[in-house]
Amino acid sequence: MARSIRYITGSQLLNVRRHPNIAIVDVRDDERSYDGHIAGSLHFPSDTFLDNLPTLLEATKGKDTLVFHCALSQVRGPKCARRFSDYVSEINDEMGIKNVMILERGYNGWEASGRPVCRCTNNACKVEL
Ligand SMILES: [Zn+2]
Repeated sequence: MARSIRYITGSQLLNVRRHPNIAIVDVRDDERSYDGHIAGSLHFPSDTFLDNLPTLLEATKGKDTLVFHCALSQVRGPKCARRFSDYVSEINDEMGIKNVMILERGYNGWEASGRPVCRCTNNACKVEL
């Protein structure tokens, strides 16, 4: 069964991003290393995304909402969100992921609005800003 994928705005995400059930998944490629990222986000680059689907599922165990984004959330973000959603449906995931979402305007929109940005080098950012 196909899940619906909804969009979330930057201001909505700002309010809910620290909720323990939410994971933010950055699917940009090299840009993450020089443009910074949303604090607390995970990095699963789009170019190796399919290979890492099981790892992503494992890394987000216990989360019920995954928010995907790329730079603009126009191509890579929606594509990876769809792939992940299909994957979860295919394996009949019982781990409880209910919502797959896409951050409107992506990282660039987030940063342009002056929202908190982290520049650590971890693939799984633990910084809280
Ligand atoms: Zn960080």
